[in-house]
Amino acid sequence: MHRAIVVGAGFSGAVVARVLAEAGYTVTVYEKRDAIGGNCFDYTAENGVLVQKYGPHLFHTRSDAVMAFLRRFAVFFPYRHHVLGSIDGRLVPVPFNLTSLKILFPPDAAAPLRDALVEAYGYGARVPIARLRQSGNPGLRELGAYIYEKLYLHYTQKQWRCWLEDLDPEVGGRVPVHISDADGYFSDPFQCMPAGGFTALFRNMLNHPGITVRLSTDALELLRIEGETLLFNGAPCDCPVVWTGCLDQLLGYTLGALPYRSLAFRYENLPDACFQSCGVVNYPGEEAYTRIIEFKYFTVPSGPIQGTTIAYETPCDYNGKNIPYYPVPQRQNHELYGRYRAQVSRCRNLYLTGRLAEYRYCNMDEAVQKALDLSGRIVEENR
Ligand code: UDP
Repeated sequence: MHRAIVVGAGFSGAVVARVLAEAGYTVTVYEKRDAIGGNCFDYTAENGVLVQKYGPHLFHTRSDAVMAFLRRFAVFFPYRHHVLGSIDGRLVPVPFNLTSLKILFPPDAAAPLRDALVEAYGYGARVPIARLRQSGNPGLRELGAYIYEKLYLHYTQKQWRCWLEDLDPEVGGRVPVHISDADGYFSDPFQCMPAGGFTALFRNMLNHPGITVRLSTDALELLRIEGETLLFNGAPCDCPVVWTGCLDQLLGYTLGALPYRSLAFRYENLPDACFQSCGVVNYPGEEAYTRIIEFKYFTVPSGPIQGTTIAYETPCDYNGKNIPYYPVPQRQNHELYGRYRAQVSRCRNLYLTGRLAEYRYCNMDEAVQKALDLSGRIVEENR
């Protein structure tokens, strides 16, 4: 009988555990928090609202395989994510689109800009802000500068404490300018949410006779790496060990700490039926917070709801005690990560997957896909 150890009960860990268990492995999942689900963890508050404790997680994917796998553990309902941004006191669609243009500019300025955008990029195109700012058309370049200042500049400073240009281009590319009148945050064909919430999905995924979950157990206290040997509880361990936490932490910060960004959430329960007109409103201006989240938009209520729950999301430094939400996608950080990775390359039964372990800005579906790929590889390598 094969054994495997998985560290972390977020998407990456839970998917690996499930696939290995179905392949006949006896899997132990170690999770330092007292709950499964990682940052997707959600719970029903007293007012009946399903609250995502670690901020908004909206599911979207292009992958049939990921969707088919997840549908085994939850019924999904269609949910298209709409975001508004508060710009100079007006609420406009984000990503910035032709409707945003119409709201913010007088008609005689908006109409020629709209025509120029459609002519330059084609209706329906998604244009990274960096590209618009470099347009050969002076009017579009000026529009690019305006959108950059109003939507990206302060938001990015708050979120990352640096300029958008100093981050990998993929970061700004996540929220391109949309040459369209239709709004919607994502463009993937599958946009949906698990009807009972993410925690219930994780519970179903981890509910397998081959899986044992040990909550409130910090695997760092059990794992040690000596050269090419993994020690578990002081004894050499040759079964696959899948690590989904921070790699610098696993290796005792020997090369220095990898930077991460953290988030602080201030929750409020309000008596009103609704606080805002969509699930997320971005504040790309001088406010300390970047977004206000209203959770009731993300779910089909399973019971009565009284009032609403919102959260103000404020980015902050990671200080080793709060949660490392985001790796900071910059060249020098990838380099440092590469050096850590080289340190563990000889440790053949250690596998790294997920946003923290791979130091990658990674959506939920990518985490699932990578975990599916990795577990397939582990099964192959250990036949
Ligand atoms: N961004 C921005 N203004 C916005 C929305 C996004 O400047 O109104 C930039 C910002 O740098 C952010 C990045 O685009 O970190 C990616 O945004 P996304 O909404 O994908 O971030 P996530 O939901 O992953 O925190």
